[in-house]
Amino acid sequence: MSEEQTLATLMATVFDDANGSMTPPIVQTSLFSFDTYQDFEDRMAGRSDQPIYTRVQNPTVAAFEQLMANAEQGEAAIGFASGIAAITSTLLAFVKPGSRIACVEHVYPDTYRFMERILRPFGVEISYHSVEAFENDAGLLEGVDLAYLESPNSVVFTPMNLVKVAGHAQRHQAVTMIDNSWASPLFQRPLTLGIDIVVHSASKYISGHSDTVAGVVISSLEHISRIRDLTLPLLGAKLAPFEAFLLTRGLRTLNARMMQHQATANLFVDRLATIPQVRKINSPGANAVPGLTGRSGLMSIEFDDSVDIPKFSDALAHFRLGVSWGGFESLILPARVGLAQAGEQNSMQKFGVSPNLVRLNLGLEDAEDLWADFMVALSKGAA
Ligand SMILES: *Cc1c(COP(=O)(O)O)cnc(C)c1O
Repeated sequence: MSEEQTLATLMATVFDDANGSMTPPIVQTSLFSFDTYQDFEDRMAGRSDQPIYTRVQNPTVAAFEQLMANAEQGEAAIGFASGIAAITSTLLAFVKPGSRIACVEHVYPDTYRFMERILRPFGVEISYHSVEAFENDAGLLEGVDLAYLESPNSVVFTPMNLVKVAGHAQRHQAVTMIDNSWASPLFQRPLTLGIDIVVHSASKYISGHSDTVAGVVISSLEHISRIRDLTLPLLGAKLAPFEAFLLTRGLRTLNARMMQHQATANLFVDRLATIPQVRKINSPGANAVPGLTGRSGLMSIEFDDSVDIPKFSDALAHFRLGVSWGGFESLILPARVGLAQAGEQNSMQKFGVSPNLVRLNLGLEDAEDLWADFMVALSKGAA
């Protein structure tokens, strides 16, 4: 049985419910009450783990968390109200004033803003490094408390050899944390490669239907307990039961959706290589680095100057303009629109992104329809 089948089979489990229910009940309650004084006292003293309050524990959320822990081969997981809530609540549980973070370049723009606008003013030191430096500079993580990684990273989609970087981090006793939203647990399981903490924007492939904003963190029991005791209750960005239900629903079809995204992305990568106006294709595939077993549907390409990007974008019929990704629908995000943010030093300036770069989210439409659309728009988009 291949690993993909294992994950798909894992996601088709029945819930342990007296009725044999295939889906978890939506436990839409804020609090859980106790029958006796003794039960209540035992729970508050930590002698039982009955739920108390949905800000910290809820059975529908717990069902999703268990599936995610299994999918990523971690010991435990916590659902959050958004991907950025999972990222910020995890970072704040592991850093304090004076801590040092080494962060990968071209990191997700709001993660960059959190580092610069919140962590740095609170006295956390942050440095940014290329994928190559993380892999090849064995001394990079000396004195670093936390390495913040994405593989591939955002915007330019450079994959990172996580086995190598995890090895460097272990030698320097740095905690490693990765945003695994791009690959999903189907194509990459960083915990099995030596990484300590995995986060996802579950709004993307985990949900898969562009109808939910959510996040999740997966790690060892020790790390998850720290977040559950500290930043989950005290920042309060918890996942709601209905959203958790939708995410469990999304996970059931993750395998099938990722296979379709991959097939379309493979077709695009093969054909884009023959298009003279395309200068660069950023789309790592299976085995680009150890442990990466597939290509997702999110990629970027760099046009040469002969393409008028606004004209090209407007000529597309099946790709809509928009942020986010990972749903059923194809999208285009020109870097000069998507990354430029007025009034602050933004990540496009910081990391140097070509104004000719566009990000494509290949959805679940017919691949030939999407390719035909792309080619027609290209012919109409000559500068
Ligand atoms: C969207 C995204 C996030 C943020 O997730 P939200 O669910 O929108 O809060 C984080 N990382 C990556 C790579 C993303 O694409």
